[in-house]
Amino acid sequence: MVDLVSQYQNIKPEVDQAISEILESAQFINGPAVKQFQSDLESYLNVKHVIPCANGTDALQIALMALDLKPGDEIITPSFTFIATTEVIALLGLKPVFVDVDKDTFCIDPDSIRNAITDKTKVIVPVHLYGQVANMKEIMSIADEHGLYVIEDNAQAIGSNYHMDKGDVKTGTIGHMGCTSFFPSKNLGCYGDGGAIFTNDDDLAGKMRMIVNHGQSKRYYHDLVGCNSRLDSIQAAVLSIKLRKLDEYIDARRKVADHYDRFFAKWDNIQTPHRDDVSKHVFHQYTLILDGIDRDALNQFLADRDVPSMIYYPVPAHKQKMFESFGSDQTELPITDWLTERVLSLPIHTEMEPDQLDYICSSIEEFLNTNKA
Ligand SMILES: *Cc1c(COP(=O)(O)O)cnc(C)c1O
Repeated sequence: MVDLVSQYQNIKPEVDQAISEILESAQFINGPAVKQFQSDLESYLNVKHVIPCANGTDALQIALMALDLKPGDEIITPSFTFIATTEVIALLGLKPVFVDVDKDTFCIDPDSIRNAITDKTKVIVPVHLYGQVANMKEIMSIADEHGLYVIEDNAQAIGSNYHMDKGDVKTGTIGHMGCTSFFPSKNLGCYGDGGAIFTNDDDLAGKMRMIVNHGQSKRYYHDLVGCNSRLDSIQAAVLSIKLRKLDEYIDARRKVADHYDRFFAKWDNIQTPHRDDVSKHVFHQYTLILDGIDRDALNQFLADRDVPSMIYYPVPAHKQKMFESFGSDQTELPITDWLTERVLSLPIHTEMEPDQLDYICSSIEEFLNTNKA
């Protein structure tokens, strides 16, 4: 699905030098490289505070921990997402309330949010799935109206822009907090685990800086229950290099998406990813909706030809055993279920060659010509 080896080869001298400088300095934790990356990312996102942490799942957990929530408080989240978004809610003794997504954008549906709000609702967690941005304008206005917090799960959409009334802003900086993951295959990935939270709120930022460090602001004086969640210096150094290339990487992904879009235009039963004028799709995934096509057979057919294709995600959160005790299996999310049976993601990355794209497209064409519905 991605080609991290070729991507590394193209930046190898810079990366090798940066890593060897860290090895020489032996400042593996909280070294200057971490401060540097933090400030690089603050400038890129045009946000006041970036709080680096150990991974994207921790980022979501830490953001929720900063909000003084009580057990049983309700957090509205899509079910059509990677499990981490929803898992941390349960982990903290909060209640995930699963809502449906929009059929075109795969992202949380504002009407579905409205219908799920109760007097226990405290937070909305929109996920910018596959690199497509949720309807943030509507979501922020619902949150304002009901006094709710918004935590954006931006793990798949870093670098994307969204048009607000005040102009274009980066995703992850629209809600009260935004979270990301630097897992190697993400659009901005390191060479291990990493994550970060973004916010323009000084109080939340101060609290989160304590939470990531055992709840202390002064060494051995612990005011809050926190955790240990750090980005290490080697990852930070790699990330500063890759951040300078992020826009270029996004352009490369969008070019691959354009190619796929043109190729798939001729089939009525294939829906290509939605694009609009208010946001920039950064194509963490290129995900098709196949209606009336045997999706699982195509997935296998491609695998037999050494073309990876993936179903993100085969089981939505509300159908996971993990959440049975929340009664979530009783939740009806027709669009989520419909999409779960029809989505298929194709390889997309920054180093894709035209002949690879042609091979993938011609393999799919062969399948479609021989397996009519
Ligand atoms: C990757 C991802 C996460 C979790 O990130 P990790 O760094 O793997 O913990 C959370 N949410 C979404 C939508 C993701 O894609």
